[in-house]
Amino acid sequence: MRRDCALLALAVALSGCGASIAPPMTPAAQCKSSTGIAVQLESVPAGTNGLCAWTAAMVDGFRARYEQRWGALALDGWTVRIRTAATFSGDHLGTTWTDSRTIDLVDSQWVILPHELNHVRTGSSHDGWCAEFEPWEETELGYNERGYLGCQDAH
Ligand SMILES: [Zn+2]
Repeated sequence: MRRDCALLALAVALSGCGASIAPPMTPAAQCKSSTGIAVQLESVPAGTNGLCAWTAAMVDGFRARYEQRWGALALDGWTVRIRTAATFSGDHLGTTWTDSRTIDLVDSQWVILPHELNHVRTGSSHDGWCAEFEPWEETELGYNERGYLGCQDAH
């Protein structure tokens, strides 16, 4: 991954490809989803007992929707972290740290999780996503990211 990123560094300077090691985070809560994904919450607001289990169920739910269309992912050893930041690296709502097997999501931005899972399946590039993945996102999730992905028919 590191070597690929070095070779592609100029082409993907804006994608965050070079930073595939997750920054440290001290979890306020952590648990395991029923499909074996580690879930960590950066913050647990007062009065939200059971938030980690609920979050883990959401992770499994979006994983199931993704895998139903795109096939099973090997996510053993992967961690999904729910962060408190409003965005990452400018305007990103999710980040996949491949070398650390970690996905960071902005709190409540579930619609972004399938995008990050697609990075796990296809790598750091968005090449080809406009033709296949993006139309599925719009139909399945009601999420239009043609503009973000630079698709020709962005609107
Ligand atoms: Zn992406």
